Amino acid sequence: MTDLLDEIAALKKREDASILAHYYQDSEIQELADFTGDSLKLARAATQVQSRTIVFCGVHFMAETAKILNREKRVLLPDLQAGCSLADSCPARQLDRYQEMLRANDHRFQTVAYINTTAAVKALSDWIVTSGNAEDVIRRVPPDQEILFVPDRHLGQYLQEVTGRKMILWNGSCMVHEIFSVGDLLALKRTLPQALTIAHPECPANVREHSDFVGGTEAMIRYVAARPDPTDFLVATEANMLWQLQSQVPRHRYHPVPGITCACNKCPHMARNTLEKLRDCLRDGTPEIGWQPEFDQAKEVLQRSLLN
Ligand code: SF4
Repeated sequence: MTDLLDEIAALKKREDASILAHYYQDSEIQELADFTGDSLKLARAATQVQSRTIVFCGVHFMAETAKILNREKRVLLPDLQAGCSLADSCPARQLDRYQEMLRANDHRFQTVAYINTTAAVKALSDWIVTSGNAEDVIRRVPPDQEILFVPDRHLGQYLQEVTGRKMILWNGSCMVHEIFSVGDLLALKRTLPQALTIAHPECPANVREHSDFVGGTEAMIRYVAARPDPTDFLVATEANMLWQLQSQVPRHRYHPVPGITCACNKCPHMARNTLEKLRDCLRDGTPEIGWQPEFDQAKEVLQRSLLN
């Protein structure tokens, strides 16, 4: 293990590379990263790195976003197969047809896409949101326009509740957040009646309803940090987030909310990235995210939504 870490450090220097890691990566990857964060924080960090190369430890749409915002930099993704069930649930061609149908039926609307989408979907959208900035961006959509929100129906429902804006919702979901078991959450609450529950807005309504706080991963960190006394938190999001909470705010105790099918709720796509693959991609300069024709339009939408 030490040899592998030394090798990565030497290659990082040789290749003039920075490592960006999502909060849902294994702790050993988060530990050696130059930047950790949620999608919004990492997209912003990607525009600030000085190095020639970015190694993005996350899933494909995130590495694609980093490339879109940094055309001149080389962006590597340790495993090109690291996808996302949410991004897969909204193919660009299907969205294009649906938008056409809405226009043909006299709907005046703007399309708001969650960042968990392909560049081709971003290029068809008016706005891109993350769980960290969604409420602010939704409030920027003119009130005389309808909102088509893609692809996460649970996040869309949550945003309808908090902003009061009615939306046309795409029927997508995250395979990790969708399977939290409300029954197991209630059982856990009975065991730890003093605990507070924090849930990601990608969770279904029945889990959100039983939560004391709903917010993206950065908002979760702020929420637990604001609580001075040691507290038990039941955490309904990807299991690796517990490591980040523990390392940033160690005075509390964190307990994962179990899923229906397993106790850990780890994202299998994120788990494709390993230290060995990180070393290999630095050594070989591949897999690399290449510039695609749709990136120009996606860049305009991303910059307007996330950076301004
Ligand atoms: S946790 Fe869900 S939304 Fe995030 S990358 Fe995995 S499948 Fe996609």
